[in-house]
Amino acid sequence: LKRIELVKSKIGEFPDFPKPGINFRDIFTALIDGQTCRALKEVLINYVKKNHPSIDAVVGLDARGFLFSFTIASELGVGCIPIRKKGKLPGETHKVEYILEYGSDVFELQCGGIKKDQKILIVDDLLATGGSLKAAIELIQKAGGIIDGCLVVMELNALNGRKALDGFIIFDKIIMG
Ligand code: 5GP
Repeated sequence: LKRIELVKSKIGEFPDFPKPGINFRDIFTALIDGQTCRALKEVLINYVKKNHPSIDAVVGLDARGFLFSFTIASELGVGCIPIRKKGKLPGETHKVEYILEYGSDVFELQCGGIKKDQKILIVDDLLATGGSLKAAIELIQKAGGIIDGCLVVMELNALNGRKALDGFIIFDKIIMG
């Protein structure tokens, strides 16, 4: 609990970024401090070992999700696979379009990274509306993977992202709402 409180206290808040009305939570602000990096890593690893002990790979979402996917995967000795925004991954990819506040975007996953029936944990820094995680779930299922759960560090409760994913997956946040 002490470690969680430490991380929570260090997360940056930036009003009106990247647009007016958005209060941006910045995980990188917390990582400036070395003790906080270690605390967050320990919380993450302990959580995953306890709650997702039999995963085959971790999928991180572009771009802050990569911080956590590699940390977890390297500690557990399982695969680390990225989902990236359109045009950033080489080779053949699975694609899925998802809706944003204004317009839409495309997520991609390299073909062949996920083997059929592999158990996958999806990680990202923050859950807002749930649109990104929903698109990621769709992509992983398209590739034949089974979702073991979704894990974020922070959740913006007011946006009901948890509801958007309801009944669909096990969803956890580890640090703050
Ligand atoms: P969602 O798809 O759930 O609406 O939005 C989640 C995605 O948007 C995540 O990939 C997250 O990194 C990004 N995001 C949305 N709002 C914030 C915020 O306040 N802080 C940070 N760090 N990321 C945000």
